[in-house]
Amino acid sequence: MTRDPSRPQPLGGNDMPRFGGPATMMRLPARESAAGLDACFVGVPFDIGTSNRPGARYGPREIRSESALLRPYNMATRAAPFDSLIVADVGDVPINTFNLADSIGIIERAYDEILGHDCVPLTLGGDHTIALPILRALARKHGPVGMVHVDAHADINESMFGEPITHGTPFRRAVEEGLLDGPRVAQIGLRGTGYHADDFDWPRKQGFRVVPAEECWHRSLVPLMDEVRETLGTGPVYLSFDIDGIDPAFAGGTGTPEIGGLTTIQALEIIRGCHGLDLVGADLVEVAPAYDTSGNTALLAANLLFEMLCVLPGVAEP
Ligand code: MN
Ligand code: MN
Repeated sequence: MTRDPSRPQPLGGNDMPRFGGPATMMRLPARESAAGLDACFVGVPFDIGTSNRPGARYGPREIRSESALLRPYNMATRAAPFDSLIVADVGDVPINTFNLADSIGIIERAYDEILGHDCVPLTLGGDHTIALPILRALARKHGPVGMVHVDAHADINESMFGEPITHGTPFRRAVEEGLLDGPRVAQIGLRGTGYHADDFDWPRKQGFRVVPAEECWHRSLVPLMDEVRETLGTGPVYLSFDIDGIDPAFAGGTGTPEIGGLTTIQALEIIRGCHGLDLVGADLVEVAPAYDTSGNTALLAANLLFEMLCVLPGVAEP
């Protein structure tokens, strides 16, 4: 197949050894802005909203490092994202690590700018707090969005230690601010211990579909995703993927691990099951490399971000 030279390709392993070359996502070109791009990878090295182990500020750098192994074609789905979309790495959002509230504004403005170029952002987190400013920017452009949210936690706490904006509260704030279309939200993988036995009932009251991890055990999630696509329909959808949705056996490099989680295979089923949705953005959050001596968590994250790229609108159907 002939390639359009205006569409950047990842730097290949036969042109530069995989352990060399630029430290961008998939060794794509680095761009100063999202102008002219259909989709971009963008890092948010933010972890000052974390309640337990810190370190997700190093997530973007480590995900980019592990992404050097990724090749441009999806052998399972035959997706060829770089042949149909113009994609680059626009670097990191320069958050103010000494000031959470200021950082939220910085992130919002950065995403307003990206979305102003009609570019779909694929975010390398960062802790889950960053979903709130991203959703604010998305809702300004698209109105309230549907969401596929993979996580061990519902992230709908009223507050944490009295604070309204943390990595455990983004979707409570998003509902209050009218950023989410409740009946078009699915939360998958929820589990573990809670503050109250009815913690997962609050999202159900907002119309969310809550799928606890127990309902996913020992089974394919392809049928679930068929239902999710049906429910979410044709409107705009955000995909928010907390790596702690995956079992710590596969993804131990995270701040708040919970046992009994999803498998990497189920993660692929969820993301591939988003094909056909009108995805307007996606994130992969909560990778904290310091607790991951093998690099597997960041490697998984890099692969999942590539899978997200493969299901964006405009990527050629297999
Ligand atoms: Mn989360
Ligand atoms: Mn979580």
